[in-house]
Amino acid sequence: MNFLEEKILSDGTVKQGNILKIDNFLNHQIDIGIMRQIADELKHRFHDVEVNKILTIEASGIAIATMVGNLYDVPVVFAKKGETANSTDDKYVSHAYSFTHKQMNNVFVSQPYLNSTDRVLIVDDFLADGQAVHALIDLVHQAGGEVVGIGIAVEKGQQNGGRLLREEGYRLESIAVIEEMDWKTQRIDFRH
Ligand code: 5GP
Repeated sequence: MNFLEEKILSDGTVKQGNILKIDNFLNHQIDIGIMRQIADELKHRFHDVEVNKILTIEASGIAIATMVGNLYDVPVVFAKKGETANSTDDKYVSHAYSFTHKQMNNVFVSQPYLNSTDRVLIVDDFLADGQAVHALIDLVHQAGGEVVGIGIAVEKGQQNGGRLLREEGYRLESIAVIEEMDWKTQRIDFRH
């Protein structure tokens, strides 16, 4: 079992609706030691990949993305969610249904922060149905850039995002992949 799986088992709680709550080290309070380990592991898994930008989505992806950006020494961009200004001329805009908030969000990045020369590593805390990651991929492609990898802390293997992205040919690395979890028993099984 790796460090993140151990941390999830010791500190995570399973909520009804297939939600894993890891507020005390990632989604509310941030455990810097665990973030450092996540960043080191992602850098290790993508050691052979040339990256010149990290892209994530607000809010919880930012902590991991910043630590990874520090290791690569490249800029970190976070897509914003919600209402765009009336004019979207200066923004790349995509859309993602939020699994946790059950609503459709605009997802956008101002045009100067994504370019056709970018080789982007997408980083996020969770991968569930893949809506957030697909929106980020769309933004990179609108800018003419390339997605060179996708690094995720926790992939929920019961949902389809990971399978779709792998079928689409993306290089996806998830540090912990949940096979199954049950809110009644609090049991969490990982895929290996
Ligand atoms: P997706 O777009 O892949 O369906 O969902 C990914 C996004 O939803 C992540 O950015 C994350 O914020 C949120 N998310 C999905 N599932 C969970 C979960 O079980 N727990 C938490 N804390 N966030 C989740």
